[in-house]
Amino acid sequence: MLSYWEKESFTHFDHAIIGGGIVGLSAALSLKTANPEKSVVLLEKGLRPTGASTKNAGFACFGSPSELLEDLENIGEDGMLKLVEQRWTGLQRLRSRIGDENMGFENFGGYEVLEKKDLWYLDKLEMLNKLLQPVFSKKVFHPANERIKDFGFNKDLAAGMVFNPFESQINTGKTMRSLWDMALSAGIHILTGAEVTSCEDDGEGIRITVRGSSINDEMNLKVRNTGICTNAFTRKLFPEIPLSPGRGQVLVTSPVPNLKFRGTFHMERGFYYFRNLGDRVLFGGGRHLQMDEETTTEFGENPVIREKLEQYLRELILPGISWSIDHSWSGIMAFGENKKPYIKEHKPNIYTGVRLGGMGVAIGTHIGEKLADMMSGE
Ligand SMILES: Cc1cc2nc3c(=O)[nH]c(=O)nc-3n(C[C@H](O)[C@H](O)[C@H](O)COP(=O)(O)OP(=O)(O)OC[C@H]3O[C@@H](n4cnc5c(N)ncnc54)[C@H](O)[C@@H]3O)c2cc1C
Repeated sequence: MLSYWEKESFTHFDHAIIGGGIVGLSAALSLKTANPEKSVVLLEKGLRPTGASTKNAGFACFGSPSELLEDLENIGEDGMLKLVEQRWTGLQRLRSRIGDENMGFENFGGYEVLEKKDLWYLDKLEMLNKLLQPVFSKKVFHPANERIKDFGFNKDLAAGMVFNPFESQINTGKTMRSLWDMALSAGIHILTGAEVTSCEDDGEGIRITVRGSSINDEMNLKVRNTGICTNAFTRKLFPEIPLSPGRGQVLVTSPVPNLKFRGTFHMERGFYYFRNLGDRVLFGGGRHLQMDEETTTEFGENPVIREKLEQYLRELILPGISWSIDHSWSGIMAFGENKKPYIKEHKPNIYTGVRLGGMGVAIGTHIGEKLADMMSGE
């Protein structure tokens, strides 16, 4: 039973944001900045953010040639350009909100590594560059086959490469800590260990039921409106929302003396990705190898995928070099029929900003801002 004091001070807010990932934190910050007089509560089921935002690879990217060609086919020229623009402006807003130093931002550029069967992508670069001209005003993709040898990759497997000077990398942990600290300083009331179990209009506002960590710890909050930022976990609250979870696996090697490359690298339409992490290599992906098994919200490791990732490390990325795996983890993303996020007034006064796919670092700030605009009634 709640005390008089608890009811008075902990249960009524103007706005609630559910989920403390990059979208939830961005939405809460944008809401509070635009409406400093309003109270904002952020409810996070973990003790810290426990979704994709603290588990990702830290690519500040907007799409490799093979991914953009796939988008072109699925959502057309306008759809693809709009996504690229949202990712690009989202990244710039994230940088100006946090500052490059606080997010470990480094611009080494990005690459797509092409196996022999993928070399035809090189013929499409000119067409893509023309399409992207209105967003970047400069050529984005450059053939870079000559760097394959300098980077120490196995030339029999890495047959071609494309360079993109606009792509960068971030320190994911620093970025999320900065957003979290900014939200606290802005006066956002953050509750952790607070799993929302239902959220509905009771005629007098939105009633949110929150379960705490102990069996007797449950409470109802009353808010004017709420933003759902629970990404892959959204269907537990709203099973009708069209998204499916997708698990992503990540490995980090031991430090590699004299590592020959710096930058972010994509392969196979983004299904594999690697980067330097200081002198280590972070390598992730492979979800497409076992799509059914990886369509899950359960964290865990898939041995088949791990073996394939290690094989690529051994044979293509670090041939002839000895290393071990020092860190491994998985995170859960959310996907839909195409790469457009699901941002809507899903029910009266219940808004969603979910289904961020594999590029939420880039697009997350933009989706948070859009959600905040909708919730502010703009
Ligand atoms: C392995 C991996 C690598 C990736 N690499 C990149 C990359 O390099 N670049 C890039 O741009 N993107 C990358 N992504 C994708 C990116 O991380 C996501 O798109 C982005 O983090 C999604 O942010 P979000 O805030 O929507 O969701 P999340 O970060 O998943 O946040 C959702 C939050 O909601 C909370 N929550 C869920 N249900 C409830 C509930 N009922 N009550 C309260 N809280 C709840 C969760 O605990 C979680 O903290 C990667 C993702 C993974 C998994």
